[in-house]
Amino acid sequence: MFDSLSQRLARIVKTMRGEARLTETNTQEMLREIRIALLEADVALPVVRDFIAQVKEKALGQEVLQSLSPGQALVGIVHNALIDLIGGETAELDLASKPPAIILMAGLQGAGKTTTVGKIGKWLTENRRKKVLVVSCDVYRPAAIEQLRTVAGQAGVDFFPSQPDQKPTDIARAAVEWAKNHYHDVLIVDTAGRLGIDQAMMDEIRLLHDTLNPVETLFVVDAMQGQDAVNTAKAFSETLPLTGVVLTKLDGDSRGGAALSVKAITGKPIKFVGVGEKLTGLDVFHPDRMANRILG
Ligand code: GDP
Repeated sequence: MFDSLSQRLARIVKTMRGEARLTETNTQEMLREIRIALLEADVALPVVRDFIAQVKEKALGQEVLQSLSPGQALVGIVHNALIDLIGGETAELDLASKPPAIILMAGLQGAGKTTTVGKIGKWLTENRRKKVLVVSCDVYRPAAIEQLRTVAGQAGVDFFPSQPDQKPTDIARAAVEWAKNHYHDVLIVDTAGRLGIDQAMMDEIRLLHDTLNPVETLFVVDAMQGQDAVNTAKAFSETLPLTGVVLTKLDGDSRGGAALSVKAITGKPIKFVGVGEKLTGLDVFHPDRMANRILG
C-alpha cells in the first residue's frame, strides 16, 4: 500500500523537529511529499498543482505559533486547505420551489444514477416527509426503465411509466403534469448515460434541462473513476448549470481523491455520497469526514 498523506505528514513533522520556522527549503520538501500523497489518493494533477500552490503561499506567509513546530503548523495548513477546497459546509438540497421541485440526474452510464434516484427518493420520503415521483427518460435501454420501476418500488416512491418509443422531453413534460395533478412535492428525473462523453447525450440532457428548468441538477460520479472523474466532471459542468454532485461507491477502497477533483472542477458542492448498493447506502456529504479520508 501507499503511504497515506497522514503518514507522510507525520514523517515531515518528525524530520522538521529542531527547525525553528517554515522556510522556502523545508516547505518545498514537505510540499513534495504532499503532492505524491495526493496523487496517490487519486486527486487529479491540475487540482494537486493548485492545491500545492495555495498551501505554499499560506505556509510561507505564516508566522508559526510558539507552541507549534513548523511541521505541525504545516499539517494544520494542509488540513484547512483540504476542507476549504472540498467546501467548508454541508450543502442541502434546494427544494424551495413551487411543487413539484424537479431534480435532474446527470452522469455516465454505470455511475449510479438510477440507484441514487431511489436513494434520494427514499431519503426525501423518510427524512423530509416529501411525496416523491420518479421517471426515467432513458429511452435507449428499456431495461433502464424497468430498473427504475423496481428501484422505485423498493424506495417506496411513485413511479411514472415511460416507453422507449417516446421522446425524452415528452416523457419529462408528461411526468411534470402528472406530478402537479397528483400533488407530488418532488419529481426526480433519471436520464440516459453513455459509457463515455458523447455529444448527442450532452445535447439531449441540455434539452431536458431547458425543458424542465429543475431546481437541482445533480452530477452523479463514481469515486472509483479517480483521475478520469475530472474529464467527465468538466464535460458535464460545461454543458449544464449543475447545482451539486453525488459521489457514489465510496464504500469501495477509493481514497476519495475524486471528491477534491470534482469539487475543484465544477465549483459545486458535493451534496450526497453513495456508500453501498442498497437504497439505505446514502449519506449527506460531510467535508471534514472527506478531508480525513483523503488524509488517510
Ligand atoms: P446508472 O447507469 O448511472 O443508472 O447506474 P446504476 O444505478 O445502474 O448503478 C450501476 C452499478 O453501480 C449498480 O450495480 C449499482 O448497484 C452500483 N452502485 C450504485 N451506487 C453505488 C454505491 O454507492 N456503492 C456501490 N458499492 N455500488 C453502487
